[in-house]
Amino acid sequence: MAGARPPNGRLLTRFAPSPTGPLHLGHAYSAWVAHDLARANGGRFLLRIEDIDRTRSHPAWERAIYEDLAWLGIHWDAPPLRQSDRLDAYVDALRWLWREGLLYACSCTRRDIAAAASAPQEGAEPPRGPDGIVYPGTCRILPRTPDAPMPENTALRLDMRAALDRLGLSTIRFDETDQGYIQTRTRPAEDLIDQVGDVVLSRRDFPGSYHLSVVLDDGAQGVTHVVRGADLRDSTWIHRVLQDLVGLPAPVYLHHRLIRDPEGRRLAKRDDARAISAYRDEGLSPGDLRSLVGSSQD
Ligand code: GLU
Repeated sequence: MAGARPPNGRLLTRFAPSPTGPLHLGHAYSAWVAHDLARANGGRFLLRIEDIDRTRSHPAWERAIYEDLAWLGIHWDAPPLRQSDRLDAYVDALRWLWREGLLYACSCTRRDIAAAASAPQEGAEPPRGPDGIVYPGTCRILPRTPDAPMPENTALRLDMRAALDRLGLSTIRFDETDQGYIQTRTRPAEDLIDQVGDVVLSRRDFPGSYHLSVVLDDGAQGVTHVVRGADLRDSTWIHRVLQDLVGLPAPVYLHHRLIRDPEGRRLAKRDDARAISAYRDEGLSPGDLRSLVGSSQD
């Protein structure tokens, strides 16, 4: 793929499903795009099991992931990385961010957040970011104690303004590959304060969050090209800030189109009817599935 390969080293992609339900056609498409990009460039392809949601993840779904991918003809080049084995790395990064004064504890419930966010403009919709309503900052003003041990059993949020000030960034940017061309996307840093806000980096019940884990794991696995659905493009701005904060290189991003059902809705885990295993049981071949989704990033 022209322009997609980094100047040094081999291209490396990954597929990172959560074992919380059956893989469906959308996952097959995502895995194929990542896998084919690596293979077409003499690169490597890795698998990561994103099982930080301890209540919804299940070993049976993890086994089903291996089975489905093997049936699709997708092979990974190293043992899969399981996020539940990475807690020490997440805690280390959180402790560092805490000591730097970039995190604060938050005890707000969803209901508190909705009430506080709608209070200033009664009746108007509060701004929403990639994680839902933009956090109105209730706990940000509480005194911080970076010299004290990081609190446990509470959510920790990134102070986005402090993070951007620390980095001295007025613009956030990432490189996106699309049909073989690399484009640099930019966004004013101020947008992240108003439209994304102080995202959760550690949950009350787990020392990590999607944003933190994905950034640290892509870094640890040496991912050069992050391939994932266009629904996650808005999270990429957050990931770029985190990569700069913890000193990880910025990968190139490929946000592929989403596979939709005949009504135009994005497929979700609940769409068991479009589970890869259901097609397999009906006697379709992996090639039939490729034709159903279109195998390239068109
Ligand atoms: N685990 C996420 C999912 O299953 C994908 C995360 C990513 O690719 O960044 O949707």
